[in-house]
Amino acid sequence: MTGNNVRLQAIKDVEAYVPPAAVAETDEPGEVYGENVFSIGEMRRRLPKSVYKSVAATIERGAPLDPAVADSVAAAMKDWALEKGATHYAHVFYPLTGLTAEKHDSFFEPLADGSALAEFAGKTLIQGEPDASSFPNGGLRNTFEARGYTGWDVTSPAYILQNPNGHTLCIPTVFVSMTGEALDHKTPLLRSQQAMGHHAERILKLFGHESAAHVVSFCGPEQEYFLVDRHFFLARPDLLNAGRTLFGTKPPKGQEFDDHYFGAIPARVLGFMMDTERELFKLGIPAKTRHNEVAPGQFEIAPMFERGNVAADHQQLLMTTFKAVAKKHGMECLFHEKPFDGVNGSGKHVNFSIGNSELGSLFVPGDNPHDNAQFLVFCGAVIRAVHKYSGLLRASVASATNDHRLGANEAPPAIISIFLGDQLADIFDQIAKGSATSSKGKGTMMIGADTLPVLPTDPGDRNRTSPFAFTGNRFEFRAPGSMQTVSVPMVTLNTIMAESLDAIATELEAAVAEGTPFETAVQTLLTSIITDHGAVVFNGDGYSETWQEEAAARGLPNLRTTLDALPELITDSAIELFEKYQVFNSREMHSRYEVGLEQYALTIGVEARLTLELGTTVVLPAAVRHQTEVAQNFTALTAAGLEPDAGPLKEVSAPIAELRTALDTLRAALAVHAGDSAYDEAKHAHDSLLPAMAAVRSAADTLETIVADDLWPLPTYQEMLYIL
Ligand code: ADP
Ligand code: MG
Repeated sequence: MTGNNVRLQAIKDVEAYVPPAAVAETDEPGEVYGENVFSIGEMRRRLPKSVYKSVAATIERGAPLDPAVADSVAAAMKDWALEKGATHYAHVFYPLTGLTAEKHDSFFEPLADGSALAEFAGKTLIQGEPDASSFPNGGLRNTFEARGYTGWDVTSPAYILQNPNGHTLCIPTVFVSMTGEALDHKTPLLRSQQAMGHHAERILKLFGHESAAHVVSFCGPEQEYFLVDRHFFLARPDLLNAGRTLFGTKPPKGQEFDDHYFGAIPARVLGFMMDTERELFKLGIPAKTRHNEVAPGQFEIAPMFERGNVAADHQQLLMTTFKAVAKKHGMECLFHEKPFDGVNGSGKHVNFSIGNSELGSLFVPGDNPHDNAQFLVFCGAVIRAVHKYSGLLRASVASATNDHRLGANEAPPAIISIFLGDQLADIFDQIAKGSATSSKGKGTMMIGADTLPVLPTDPGDRNRTSPFAFTGNRFEFRAPGSMQTVSVPMVTLNTIMAESLDAIATELEAAVAEGTPFETAVQTLLTSIITDHGAVVFNGDGYSETWQEEAAARGLPNLRTTLDALPELITDSAIELFEKYQVFNSREMHSRYEVGLEQYALTIGVEARLTLELGTTVVLPAAVRHQTEVAQNFTALTAAGLEPDAGPLKEVSAPIAELRTALDTLRAALAVHAGDSAYDEAKHAHDSLLPAMAAVRSAADTLETIVADDLWPLPTYQEMLYIL
């Protein structure tokens, strides 16, 4: 009986499906830009001048918000939102699950006479009190005090989220415990920005920028993702519940790189892209879709860089928008780092720079020796920070899902190194030898009295195999996973940069105070940085085997899995670092560590149970049906006196036996009580569940190549990846 084969039904449904036309075809995306954002311009129009000035000062210079203006801002925001058709408001925050959470309330309060009054006071804008008990906190909240508070992030604009069932005013907030400890990803981001900015400004002062505007960090996140037809998605309980395929043989070798599939973007994907662009534009997210997919069914979008915390909010909103618009077009958007085994995975490159409105990015070489000295000092700060804290950077991208991608020969390895480009590497080489007097390749080298070179602005080449690459005006951190929030890597980058900039500023200030000429002090500083930390610079092929050995010889850590990486969060030096710059206290660090382990064990636990269930109820029955047919055929042929070959029967029976054994092992592993700590559970997931799942998959994938096509119940890689 094959009538209920969900896979075959899905294929029919896909064929019959007519995707909707893109809404966006009807208008210019530029016309809708920012229409749903309570922008700084909107505030200027709507707020009394003094109130506007006060809020603008908070946004632009990080001045504390004056609570006295809150009522006035809230009233203007409410009027704007009501005009836009909003009926509810929501405090939006980013709990430690890495997802987005919202608490919705109505603007309207019922009155005694049966009518309703739109209420939205300043204190409601500034602070909310969602029921926090369902969000992970890693031990930060006692069960009798499950409360958490949201607080308005003035620097990230409020916006309206449109829904078929009504519109909601969304207010970006932080989420903290009653004692002020961070329960979210935004609080530390704001704290770390401030620390980094402060010490960067000290260095700028030394270079003569007395009135420099506030230094902030910028983030331009490039997002990779897959699209699959929703009929297939719904026929794959593993994709639906775990975000990745737990079964499936790879498409025939080489096919994923077949030119045929790169020719044109399928019409419905274009429709999806136009609609997402339009929705993002309405929300003031400057994102242009791009089409440089590597795997079939894979695409990328790169929003313009923005201030770190705004970029992080926009990133979350982007993912939500993509999911919603994809559904509308009959597709599912997959953000998992490795939805398809053996096929290129998805990352989220974090393009990182620091700077301000006056000077732009501080990672851009200048056109005279003085400016170049400044550029080299800021680059030196990065080299020092990444070398000293590479373990923390690795931990900032650690998750059960990203483990499938890092080091899988398509993504940066788990070893954190920096690619500087030939030219910059050459200059630091020369600095290490005592002086930099010539520039490799193109461009002029000007040797001033200060012996520091003039650099051409374009470093030219690229290295896709490096996890951390200088790309002309920024550093690109390529290890973050496609699904994760950019906040965690940004917090880490800001904090390790704060420490580096602090140390550098302190050294330079002391040298100047002692009467050392500034140029000499800079030269000495750069020499010591490259001598002490140059080991992290690597311009070669990060995917090669030899790099693993060389990195080990250089003393660079290779933290392969999340389990190896997370303990970096609670080393003495890590806690000292985060405490010193007031980004996390020790309790908060331990809480992140605990939540990281919990999430890891949870993710693998879900996958393991799904593997057991699908293996038992979907794969095994299909294989047994096939086996029965083969056996019946064997019997029939024997009865006819044909002496049939027993090979085919053995061929299917062996992997069936293997599958049964593997399922038993997995069932037993799931029944084990792993221990009482989050670490014990995570370790059990890593040591027992993952190998048991792999064994089930191996047998099941063999069966996929044997079982008759009309009996196979799960949409295949071929179908999911190539049919859009
Ligand atoms: P590429 O294709 O070479 O990687 P793109 O121009 O597409 O480069 O940029 C990739 C990302 O880098 C974009 O999100 C962009 O906004 C971001 N970016 C560019 N300049 C900076 C900068 N100074 N700081 C942070 N991000 C930046
Ligand atoms: Mg890039």
